[in-house]
Amino acid sequence: MSAEAKAKYRGKVLQVAVPSPLRRVFDYLPLPQQQTLPEPRVGIRVKVSFGRQQLIGIVVAVVNNSTLEKEKLKPILASLDSEPLLNDAVFKLLLWAANYYQHPLGEVFAAALPAKLRNGIPLRETSKFWTASESSTEEENSLSRAVKQKALLSFIRSAGEVTESKLREAGFSKQPLAQLLQKNLIEEHSQTKAAAAPFEPLETESNFDIELNEEQLIAVTTISKALDQYKCFLLDGITGSGKTEVYMRIMQEQLSKGLQCLVLVPEIGLTPQTIARFRQRFKCAVVSLHSGLNETERMTAWSQARDGSAGIVIGTRSAIFTPLAKPGLIVIDEEHDSSFKQQDGFRYSARDLAVSRARQEGICIVLGSATPSLESLHNARSNKFVHLHLTQRTGIDQSSKMEVIDVSRETMCDGFSEQLLYRIRKHIQQRNQVLVFINRRGFAPILNCQTCGWICECENCIAQFTVHANPPSIRCHHCGAAARLPRSCPSCKSKDLNTMGIGTQRIETFLQKQFTDTPVIRIDRDSTRRKNSLEKMLEEINKGDPCILLGTQMLAKGHHFPNITLVAILDADSGLFSADFRGQEHMGQTIVQVAGRAGRADRPGEVIIQSRHASHETLQSLANKTYAEFSESQLKERMAAQLPPFSHLCLLKAEASEMQPALQFLDGIAQFCQSFSAHNSLPIEQLGPLPAPMEKRAGKYRVQLLLKTDKRGNLQALLSSLCAELESMKLPRSVRFSIDVDPQDLV
Ligand code: ADP
Ligand code: ZN
Ligand code: ZN
Repeated sequence: MSAEAKAKYRGKVLQVAVPSPLRRVFDYLPLPQQQTLPEPRVGIRVKVSFGRQQLIGIVVAVVNNSTLEKEKLKPILASLDSEPLLNDAVFKLLLWAANYYQHPLGEVFAAALPAKLRNGIPLRETSKFWTASESSTEEENSLSRAVKQKALLSFIRSAGEVTESKLREAGFSKQPLAQLLQKNLIEEHSQTKAAAAPFEPLETESNFDIELNEEQLIAVTTISKALDQYKCFLLDGITGSGKTEVYMRIMQEQLSKGLQCLVLVPEIGLTPQTIARFRQRFKCAVVSLHSGLNETERMTAWSQARDGSAGIVIGTRSAIFTPLAKPGLIVIDEEHDSSFKQQDGFRYSARDLAVSRARQEGICIVLGSATPSLESLHNARSNKFVHLHLTQRTGIDQSSKMEVIDVSRETMCDGFSEQLLYRIRKHIQQRNQVLVFINRRGFAPILNCQTCGWICECENCIAQFTVHANPPSIRCHHCGAAARLPRSCPSCKSKDLNTMGIGTQRIETFLQKQFTDTPVIRIDRDSTRRKNSLEKMLEEINKGDPCILLGTQMLAKGHHFPNITLVAILDADSGLFSADFRGQEHMGQTIVQVAGRAGRADRPGEVIIQSRHASHETLQSLANKTYAEFSESQLKERMAAQLPPFSHLCLLKAEASEMQPALQFLDGIAQFCQSFSAHNSLPIEQLGPLPAPMEKRAGKYRVQLLLKTDKRGNLQALLSSLCAELESMKLPRSVRFSIDVDPQDLV
């Protein structure tokens, strides 16, 4: 039966998406006067009563009937916009994303809008001004004793019209103004601020200081030729090969046509230096959107993008939803970076959405990386993306030499083999700088009792506490819990406690003892917490004196250290044997990225990887081959195992304060999935339900069910009907359920 046939009410109905966990829209009637006045439009915000609350929602559709009876339909409380907030392309992108990621539409809209708009603040500020009314002398005479009112009236009269700021400047208070208004001696008007004017198209520049090399030229020409329609380019270029220069040439071309450019960068990549580089090159407004902004700043930047007054919009993940008046290009820098995938709530991939958006807008998109994701490489191989290569380092002839050293039979000193220490010493003696990479912060990952074997674990998680040195404490890296360092074993009272394993703080202490005359600079989340501390450390390193730079993942992005001649990767084995199928890919990307930070023309870099499994094929291919060959062999393994990008995954997760209810709940889901796929002959494989690799986190037990199929459509059909089923059921309150389409990590 069609909706038309089921209709119980006929007349104009607004379908509204409200921020609620329910995956559906709600019917409302327009305001009574709006039935004759201008049509309520799709895309505007409305205020509605929802249960006992008042919420701000978005009109998703205007239809001519409802399946509800008239008595059950409430009119909206207010309509907040005269024009849609989001342009058509972004609006459609959000509808598509809500459906694809199976997330409630109202929450998807909420994620896309700045908080001020989400909370109902008008898009454009309105300002008030006042003029004098035509009044009789009689009325004015009544003011003879009200000196202030009289002065104000003659001030307004002589000025013609006055604004609030003019009043303030002239020293008038609000009181006489209100009194004059009441007596009808003046009139109040309000004016909405106009949209900012679009940015001036840039002049075409032909003489840049930098002359492109041949590969850059090919990349720029190829992209330039395609600029009037959708096309996705994968710009695959080693660190320092001039990818940014290529982006900027294409941006210049679009900016000179008056078209805007949207640039997405990883969370760690959006530094003042990145923004400065664009500001320096382009004479148009460059706005940035990231988590460090306050709500007023965010609103301003967002509006400039929407009005078209900003030529360049640069931001992290959620900036993909920023509407652009005249879109011309999307760039995703470091497209392999996992920060483009949101890991909770609305679990979208900004990179994948960016590709959909570019298609929707009919514009080009460039995905750049020195270590492209296997997904993007696969898309390039199947001709969905155009693959462009930059293989030369600009100004650098030699790229660094990589070497794996076998430490399986060595006695290690706080993570270092004799060999490695010897090599570090050599580089320091030659007055060079050294970078030591370890992806674990804190002092040591394990604290245990030598007498009884007790291990210090977080109560909220099934995970060990990490020992931190400064101040001496234990901290859980999963839920953030922290406590003082225990002095004795809580189980046997022994004082013989021992730290095992290595973290950045322990290595810092060790290296400082080994190299007493050389500064050791530690860069991790703990040491850079204070504002500008990172900048200070980078400045110190860039002076070029011998030093040892020690750090985590934070070193793998953005910065370049020309004086570093040795990069040491302390431990590659955890990535090699990760529980996650992306473990090796990520390890490879990290090592290549860290290695790429070092060296310059006259001082070729060396990279040393320590491993107990030095002959492991993955490590060997990383060390002796190019990233392209490494990723090729990874792709082969993925194909053999039928894992993404050769299949599509969805991770269904349940969390509860006990294991049983979570397991039971997912069991029910699993049964539904099984019978649905059997009934519809959809080949969907199920793994689980099983406890997650990290079984308990922040006080919740975690269970997961992995769905795998070779066609996205299969999963989408199943998920849609699963969600419809869940909506009609009463869910146990104790269980939190979530759906992660194209999950990044399975831990
Ligand atoms: P990537 O983004 O690939 O890491 P960049 O575009 O940042 O590389 O380029 C690295 C450095 O090389 C920058 O200082 C840039 O100005 C410079 N550069 C880029 N292209 C050229 C070129 N063709 N000739 C000389 N220098 C270049
Ligand atoms: Zn003990
Ligand atoms: Zn914890």
